[in-house]
Amino acid sequence: EPRLFDYVDFVTLDAGERPLLALLEHIAGRRSQQRLVRCFVREDGGELAGQVRYINFVEPDVPFEDVGTPTWDGLPLHDYLSLLDMLNPMNRLWSDGRWNKLTIAHGCYWKKCSFCDITLDYISRYEAASAKTLVDRIEAIVAETGQTGFHFVDEAAPPKVLKALAQELIARQVSISWWGNVRFEKTFTPELCQLLADSGCIAISGGLEVASDRLLQLMQKGVSVEQVARVTRAFTESGILVHAYLMYGFPTQTVQDTVDALEYVRQLFENGCIQSGFFHRFACTVHSPVGQDPAAFGVRLLPLPPSPFAKNDVGFVDPTGTDHDAMGDALKKALYNFMHGLGLEQDVRRWFSVRVPKPKVPKHFIAQALGT
Ligand code: SF4
Repeated sequence: EPRLFDYVDFVTLDAGERPLLALLEHIAGRRSQQRLVRCFVREDGGELAGQVRYINFVEPDVPFEDVGTPTWDGLPLHDYLSLLDMLNPMNRLWSDGRWNKLTIAHGCYWKKCSFCDITLDYISRYEAASAKTLVDRIEAIVAETGQTGFHFVDEAAPPKVLKALAQELIARQVSISWWGNVRFEKTFTPELCQLLADSGCIAISGGLEVASDRLLQLMQKGVSVEQVARVTRAFTESGILVHAYLMYGFPTQTVQDTVDALEYVRQLFENGCIQSGFFHRFACTVHSPVGQDPAAFGVRLLPLPPSPFAKNDVGFVDPTGTDHDAMGDALKKALYNFMHGLGLEQDVRRWFSVRVPKPKVPKHFIAQALGT
């Protein structure tokens, strides 16, 4: 959208270090415009005057081990407002109070989920750093900000790196509180969860998405409902708050799948596996496997609306025909109550305003998965 450039001179994409270094050299007159990296500019002369051009002179990104320590130097950190936009324990962590933000790796080590932007750099380029480097960064940030709370903002923090980081924090007696996103994979044994808690972990969030083994497989999520139950329970038993990202409206999801998913979620709350959650409506992005190969997921994409600004979300037709709007209202109402310990003993059909089938999930599925 050319009008954007009435207000800014450049727009760069993805990891900022290399594009910014190139831009600084360009502004200092040491690099031509043709050699900018992942950068949009508006031509201000010649035949293309007024048009936006994307320039991507390919240069290697700065390795994650070498990107350095984030700094907030000069910002009035104590003057920011704390916001409380939702009565949800995890949302409260996000916005109420300040946390130092740090990534413990770049990208996602799994990079397979079919709803995720896995073709983009921020997911697909996975690079880790040593535990020593990470704790050096943590110590430098604590020294600068005087604050010891950390939010690890990785899309999915790798368990191996978390383990090494926890051991290093404990060995160096660095005392912090931290929380972040993970995948609920079986590597998170009760012992590892306890080690993470000992190193300062207070909360974990992860994707259960649509609690349905059929759909988890179609999503390539690499977890099963049973496994999520065991892993989340291990976190909870170590005193770590667990938040589950939940999803509805995934391609081919039926009303029966939705009722069953809610029944699994009810049992997870009932059995003390999760304490918080949020239902997100599935959105198809052009950078995800569903967006790239919709037929493999049983859907057909609608043409992208003409937009000069961004091409990201794309509409689709799912012949399954489920009314996800009606489902979404019920799911959100149920979840809100579950988080307050309400309605856990009741039939999940009561939350729906339309007639829905009985759940097919065995009544004690999660208790049995936990061996209780
Ligand atoms: S959804 Fe999460 S775990 Fe899956 S590929 Fe994306 S970042 Fe990785």
